[in-house]
Amino acid sequence: MSDSRLAIDGGTPVISDPLPTGVSGPSVIGDEEIAAVTEVLRSQELFRYPKSKSEAARFEEEAARRLGVEYALMVNSGTSALISALIGVGVGPGDEVIVPGYTYIATAAAVMATGAVPVIAEIDESLGLDPQDLERKITPHTRAVVPVHMRGVPARLEDILAVARKHGLKVVEDCCQCVGGDYMGQSVGTYGDAGAWSLNYYKTISSGEGGLVFTNDRDIYERACFAGDPGLPMWTASEESVEWRNEPFPRQTYRPSEVLAAIVRVQLSKLDDILEHQRSLKRAFLEKLEEAKGYRIQHVDDPEGDTGVSASVIVHDKELAVGYAHALSAEGVRAATVYNDGFPDRHIYTYWDSILEKRSHHPSGYPWNDPNYKGNVEYSKDMCPQTLDILGRSLRFDFNMNMTVEHARLMAEALNKVDAAVGG
Ligand SMILES: *Cc1c(COP(=O)(O)O)cnc(C)c1O
Repeated sequence: MSDSRLAIDGGTPVISDPLPTGVSGPSVIGDEEIAAVTEVLRSQELFRYPKSKSEAARFEEEAARRLGVEYALMVNSGTSALISALIGVGVGPGDEVIVPGYTYIATAAAVMATGAVPVIAEIDESLGLDPQDLERKITPHTRAVVPVHMRGVPARLEDILAVARKHGLKVVEDCCQCVGGDYMGQSVGTYGDAGAWSLNYYKTISSGEGGLVFTNDRDIYERACFAGDPGLPMWTASEESVEWRNEPFPRQTYRPSEVLAAIVRVQLSKLDDILEHQRSLKRAFLEKLEEAKGYRIQHVDDPEGDTGVSASVIVHDKELAVGYAHALSAEGVRAATVYNDGFPDRHIYTYWDSILEKRSHHPSGYPWNDPNYKGNVEYSKDMCPQTLDILGRSLRFDFNMNMTVEHARLMAEALNKVDAAVGG
């Protein structure tokens, strides 16, 4: 490197042209998606039943094969997929469900939508649920836990599953940000009782909106189906291949659109190429890093399974992390400090105001005041100090489909330069 003086002090920035931006799935939309949409419109068949020929049913089959699971159901969002999965495993009024303090608010909102109460637990240096805090947060009311695989990085599943088994908890894996990710050679989402994908605009593969719930358990699958379509037995009555062995119950409608299903079928066929590229970027970034002075790399149980969309480093102290972020920004890399007042990441529980304040759709204060609920959960902005401490020291580097391996190496060079100058 020719100029070791930091750009923030007047040196030459490592990266002079702005880094490419973009989100994974939408960045690879091409003629194939356009043709698929056109075909659905020309067919004038816009309803997902009968199953025998629908785009949604085909997507479900293809996704189930990709995941290595028996059953998959497409729904209209990732939130709907989580709600259906939770209802599928039997969560409802009176139950507590443990979620990490670092995830999109929908993880906690999905719990509420079933009538259950979300309990917020700490994350650790994996930036996923802390298995030890999970165990501490268990009460006699705890029914399930939702580990979240954030930013493409699988959570500490092995330890989380061990705690869940010991205490008889159901496990619903939130894979909304980890579509295509693996854990020890098997798809994330297939270790718990059920898993959920989001297909919204920001996710690995996308139809703009959409979701998928999947499981190996037929009863969970059927209950998830009923959770999102009160008329389901009627729609499938004439189909000999469809049989329900559980009693249907009426609830909401989460049916997906055939147009969106057609788009996401094409996107699924591109998933392996997306993963290969993202992973090559993250690998190039990590390989280029020199020995760190001022940070540690985020703990990843299974680096092979990581989808490669982000890499996080955890700086030894919080003030320093802000210094790194400013210096990196001057070098041409926007490395978000995950938690600071100027540039907040809304995936942190402190920004889930409506939940922290127990705001309900109804004056009864449901679900917290549900007569079935005998627990007493309290929320506050400082309830997960470990989470705030770790996120306050975290810097996240994002990779996308429009970047080249050279971009990833330059990002690492920028981090090396900043670390050498300020990391002592
Ligand atoms: C995106 C997301 C969801 C919700 O997905 P939608 O499709 O927006 O409903 C849930 N959990 C996590 C972690 C997400 O990132």
